[in-house]
Amino acid sequence: MLAFPSTYTVGITSLGYQVVWATLAQRSDVDVRRLFTDQGDPPHGGGRGRGPNLDLFGLSLSWELDGPVLLDLLEQQRIPIWGSERGDNDPIVFGGGPVLTANPEPLAPFLDVVLLGDGELLLPAFLDALQEHRTAPRQERLRRLAQVPGVYVPSLYAPRYGSDGQLLATEPTEAGIPATVAKQTWRGNTLSHSTVITPEAAWPSIHMVEVVRSCPELCRFCLASYLTLPFRTPSLDDGLIPAVEKGLTATQRLGLLGASVTQHPQFGDLLTWLNNDRFDGTRVSVSSVRASTVTPELAQILAKRGSKSLTIAIESGSERMRQVVNKKLSTEEIYAAARYAKEGGLTGLKLYGMAGLPTEEEADVEATAELLLALKKATPGLRLSLGVSTFVPKAHTPFQWQGVRPEAEKRLKLLGKRLKPKGIDLRPESYGWSVIQALLSRSDRRLAPVIAAARGNHESLGGWKKAYREGVDLPAWEEVVHGSWEPSRVLPWEHLEGPLPKSTLAKHQSEALG
Ligand code: SF4
Repeated sequence: MLAFPSTYTVGITSLGYQVVWATLAQRSDVDVRRLFTDQGDPPHGGGRGRGPNLDLFGLSLSWELDGPVLLDLLEQQRIPIWGSERGDNDPIVFGGGPVLTANPEPLAPFLDVVLLGDGELLLPAFLDALQEHRTAPRQERLRRLAQVPGVYVPSLYAPRYGSDGQLLATEPTEAGIPATVAKQTWRGNTLSHSTVITPEAAWPSIHMVEVVRSCPELCRFCLASYLTLPFRTPSLDDGLIPAVEKGLTATQRLGLLGASVTQHPQFGDLLTWLNNDRFDGTRVSVSSVRASTVTPELAQILAKRGSKSLTIAIESGSERMRQVVNKKLSTEEIYAAARYAKEGGLTGLKLYGMAGLPTEEEADVEATAELLLALKKATPGLRLSLGVSTFVPKAHTPFQWQGVRPEAEKRLKLLGKRLKPKGIDLRPESYGWSVIQALLSRSDRRLAPVIAAARGNHESLGGWKKAYREGVDLPAWEEVVHGSWEPSRVLPWEHLEGPLPKSTLAKHQSEALG
């Protein structure tokens, strides 16, 4: 059974979920059912709840705050929520996706297996190993799985703490289990594309094509870049064009996805190809693009193909701040992107920024407000919106050691005060939820009982805070969420190898912060 921690509409719009499902469904030795929070395929045997032959329960997690939903889905399927309480006849519960690849530890006690890295490699290796040892007792199956590169079996590792509660190490509990597990990287010439096109998706009837994986820009906070390195681009002729053609036989809506799609070296050629008359009537949308790659031609082709706006991430209106985060983007390039978007016939520009970045001062946030106001003046008629989130540290990035800054809350309000009266659409993310996100992205296994206790109240901030207050042997909230950690500190994900070693991340952090 493959679950998604949200509704069908949201889940089926996740390319990652679709691809894992298709990979499982293509195997003759796997009979896969889908499960969403609002619906699911009928279980084996047709009855309600868990069918008699459920061997595997998988979940893809791309948003920290969805973690508690895993427990609800397990309970609904009558699977014990704690891995330690599962027996030989219970399914193996596995998870993957960016959240679990970055730091699975807070959810580790609920999972039997975590797949670290790209599904293209991991899923076949995991399923083959599972089939090979299918009849073995559960513990033995888990031991065998732990030998597969990128397959992390949390129950075979235990954290060790010092008397002050600091994590000293997370180590294998038995001989023969690898001391560290390395994330696996797919280096094939193709990336993923939709396998399901449905009018019920959040983007109805869209065919999604992954144009790039990772991003070479290395903005110091960016999980989408650091966790998935190296930057990969399928070729146009053997990768992207066939993937696009395949979907356009079934729909006229195309979504080009990736952390920064315009950085594909042949993106211009792809657009020129899509500009052909035979694609008249096809609607093309792109995810966020790098501001410095916006050209009048790009805007024009997107406008002709039904896009109304472009999305660019500026992070901050302050040049100094952009240098700190390694965003190689000048103010002039931001103005040019807005100008070209308008000249090309687009009607809107969505900008993304952050508050509470390391070293940020109020003047930097003022600079963001000033930039937006100046852009509005410079490009009248172009609808501007600014989405702002609070900086949240993510594992395997250079800013993993930096805490959430409480000043961010006030600064989000400051942006609201400055921009809303001037007619700029401001979309701030909740500061409070960013704090919970940081708690989930930075904690170790001690958080698992808190997640279990917050269940039912996990949609309220108070519910989380109360569960943490009532928890036992937990590190101080302040230190986990807001603390700036020394690079020498042992991290909860230290035994899980990301693309870059800790020493390189520390170097990038000191390059950023001096
Ligand atoms: S340009 Fe965007 S995707 Fe690339 S590293 Fe920076 S924030 Fe991440």
